[in-house]
Amino acid sequence: MGLLDNKIAIVTGGARGIGAKIAERFTEEGAQVVLVDIDQESAEAHAQAISLKGAQAAAYVVDVSNTDAVKELVTQVVKRFGRVDILVNNAGITRDGLIMTMSEKDWDSVIAVNLKSVFNFIKAIARPMIRQKAGSIVNISSVVGLIGNGGQFNYASSKAGVIGATKSAAKELASRNIRVNAIAPGYIQTAMTDKLDEKAKNTLLELIPAKSLGRPEDVANAALFLASDLASYVTGEVLRVDGGMAM
Ligand code: NDP
Repeated sequence: MGLLDNKIAIVTGGARGIGAKIAERFTEEGAQVVLVDIDQESAEAHAQAISLKGAQAAAYVVDVSNTDAVKELVTQVVKRFGRVDILVNNAGITRDGLIMTMSEKDWDSVIAVNLKSVFNFIKAIARPMIRQKAGSIVNISSVVGLIGNGGQFNYASSKAGVIGATKSAAKELASRNIRVNAIAPGYIQTAMTDKLDEKAKNTLLELIPAKSLGRPEDVANAALFLASDLASYVTGEVLRVDGGMAM
């Protein structure tokens, strides 16, 4: 028996990195997963790779910042699968730069993909989850949403916003048996952090008590816990997965 047997889960940004690992981990525990990504080729390839292991995964191509497209996607998924038990808002981007030189475009795109997407999905999914009288939503924030970071004014603002959104939605939806939690990963080995040079990585390691970067599976296991009934009395929580970096 798996922790997510017969559950239907939507994972945004599920084509690669942390989202891909969350999708994989969920299917290992019995869930059927809907991968939502802007990258069609990678999303379809990952869904196929999961299916080859005998689990069920479907790929949908949507820009998570597009309100109408997200509404339509959720309608389609509910129609196809009959319900959505779990939503993981994971898709995210960085457009780093110093405040004084940051363009309006870089501010807007990071807020749209990282924060407006959370509004889009929770608004669209609240009604079906209320109707089915159950649901678990996991939002992927970041430690920089808790402690800030020079050079990431837009990104840290979006991730702090995700924490506010998580707690507000948790308060609104708790009486309907819908839990809403967030994960604040530290530095995790993915394409997002591969961009850092050796010097930057070494500087980072100095800040992490565990003295290592995290792995996508570390975040996936935390997401599994929060999504599953193991966390049935946990809502509005922000779980750091950061090797102690932000304690
Ligand atoms: P990746 O860049 O590896 O993966 C993100 C995925 O989201 C990609 O497949 C990307 O597609 C997709 N995506 C980007 N924009 C959109 C969009 N508008 N609509 C739909 N899908 C989109 O990121 P990570 O796996 O590293 O990060 C996942 C989440 O974890 C993010 O929210 C990130 O902020 C957060 N996080 C990551 C940390 C890290 O150290 N890696 C630390 C803390 C938080 P494409 O490849 O085409 O861009």
